[in-house]
Amino acid sequence: MPPPISLPRLQSHLEALSAFGRGAPGQGITRSCWSPAHEEARSWLIARMKDAGLTTWIDEAGNTFGRRGEGGPTVMTGSHIDTVPQGGPLDGALGVLAALECLQTIHEAGIRTRRPLTLAAWSDEEGRYLGLFGSRAFAGRLDPRKIPLVQSADGDRLVDAMTRAGFDPMEAPKARCDPRRLHAYLELHIEQGPHLEAQRIPIGVVEGIVGIRRSWVAFTGQPDHAGTTPMERRRDAFLGAAEYALGARELVVTRGSGKSVTNFGRVELAPGVANIVPARARLLHEMRELDPTVLARLERGCAAFARQVARRRGLRVKIEPLSRSEPVRCAPRVMEAVEQAAAELRLKYRRMPSGAGHDAQMLAAVTDSGMLFIPSRGGRSHRPDERSDWRAIERGTNVLLGALLRLAG
Ligand SMILES: [Zn+2]
Repeated sequence: MPPPISLPRLQSHLEALSAFGRGAPGQGITRSCWSPAHEEARSWLIARMKDAGLTTWIDEAGNTFGRRGEGGPTVMTGSHIDTVPQGGPLDGALGVLAALECLQTIHEAGIRTRRPLTLAAWSDEEGRYLGLFGSRAFAGRLDPRKIPLVQSADGDRLVDAMTRAGFDPMEAPKARCDPRRLHAYLELHIEQGPHLEAQRIPIGVVEGIVGIRRSWVAFTGQPDHAGTTPMERRRDAFLGAAEYALGARELVVTRGSGKSVTNFGRVELAPGVANIVPARARLLHEMRELDPTVLARLERGCAAFARQVARRRGLRVKIEPLSRSEPVRCAPRVMEAVEQAAAELRLKYRRMPSGAGHDAQMLAAVTDSGMLFIPSRGGRSHRPDERSDWRAIERGTNVLLGALLRLAG
């Protein structure tokens, strides 16, 4: 059994990192990638990596690395230190600092591993500019033609943000890794959902990261006087959209995998006034599911249902796909390493999908990739009161340590 990690040290590191970008009380932490707070946090992290005996460097995409050991393919671990606006102290930060704690424990115990271990803090996971930016570049999936076009929702261009932070944005694709230099990737993360806490299970072994389909579903009817047109003569695009939203939800719940989810994040109506029957209604529709066959079935089912609703209500419907990401499976070898490490510590675990995107899905393109989750209190995340119990953090970090040592040999 490996020596246990030091919870007080990890605790003090989490508290120190959470000071970078901390707002007024109740405002949480705002540390978006390339911002001054993020760059200060990066310098702090590099100093802590050096304390843990790691060799450090930063790549062209702004990913920060710390390595222990030389030679052959490396076992990687980490997460991200950027946050959403007014976020919490654990999303990403825990994966980086737990990994640091593991490497420091290994360093102090003088444990020698067959393969080197590398800690990574990936750039802009949260996507102020482009989600999973750093791991995307590392996996060789960053399209250089896109870089000049990327900007935040408030109009700040990626090229300006990177330049301000001292990086050359057009160099970012050079961060592409050589997959032959990688052995595996394992990321610890908070669950950001309620399942582990509700079931009192300390460790979630992530089986895969769900695929996401996003589309605009647009119904077109007829604008009519809302006072003089009889109800039965109206071709109300909004009612088509409303019926679609309720029915699509039902379809995803009854014909999905049991874990499939769907959401309508935006509704746009036109003309959008009280005295005209809505002529156009547009819904921003999202579906998530781990099994690609189920996801495809739900997508077809919803499209057929939209046409059915339109026909019945005398409307036209158009579905414009907006984005699609395919589900990613975690590597059995990495899942088993986590399960063995949990079993050794007599901790219960269960396999589960991740409903949120993570850097591990980019790493899956270049190496055997996996994740482990610890319970989130109340399932809360992406908000200032994001918490996990210290005991849960300690357990998860010890499992990460055991699993990393297994993978590194
Ligand atoms: Zn995260």
